[in-house]
Amino acid sequence: MRWDALSRRLRWAAAAGPRRLLGPRAPPWAAAAAAWPSPSSSSPPSPASCWSCGLALPPASPPPRFFCPSCRALQPPEPRADLFRLLGCERSFQVDVGLVQQRFRSLQRALHPDFFSRRPQAEQNFSKQHSSLANKAYRTLLSPLSRGLYLLELNGVELEKGTDAEADPEFLSEIMEINEKLSDANNDAKIEEMENFIAAKQEELIKDVSRAFEHDDLQEAKKYLAKMKYFANLEEKLKKKKIPS
Ligand SMILES: [Zn+2]
Repeated sequence: MRWDALSRRLRWAAAAGPRRLLGPRAPPWAAAAAAWPSPSSSSPPSPASCWSCGLALPPASPPPRFFCPSCRALQPPEPRADLFRLLGCERSFQVDVGLVQQRFRSLQRALHPDFFSRRPQAEQNFSKQHSSLANKAYRTLLSPLSRGLYLLELNGVELEKGTDAEADPEFLSEIMEINEKLSDANNDAKIEEMENFIAAKQEELIKDVSRAFEHDDLQEAKKYLAKMKYFANLEEKLKKKKIPS
């Protein structure tokens, strides 16, 4: 229910667009404020004060606080910003990809370094930091693999480097077999067949990971994400094969 309400409000905001809401000459801070219309239940970060005027800043409730309400100076990104919160999502494996794209674009527009070229150097630097953080959040949340790994990380679970030891021998021999088939695929039809096969396997794993997260079973999620990593590698190999040499 809450999610529906949130998406409706965001869709409305995206349709109206910060510029149309505020007029074509609205300053970037106004666009940033308009891009984040909805509160949610994430924990508020600790209070801080404006680097420019020293005003104690109100707690940033879910939309991250970008500007000082008094002097309008762009504030630095929060240390260890939650990438879900940054893009207005709940911490969940299930994300609305369309919504993530919308929020990323609003953020990109509002905090683009071009808007700050005449502002003090500190704000220019902050806008670059915000932009690269927004890019990172977008990349992380868009791909199911990195989204899942990030969720694990937020919960203090890490995927060991070189997960071979954890994977079961049966799975590893399946991967070896697919690898062989992939190297042998020497025409378009065979490559397409492999592509479909790998995509279907990934879809299946996305469902497995999703189910594990729904049940708060992080170890199970970790197991499937480790497998997803193998298929992501296969997908990369396949892409390279498709590039005509
Ligand atoms: Zn200020």
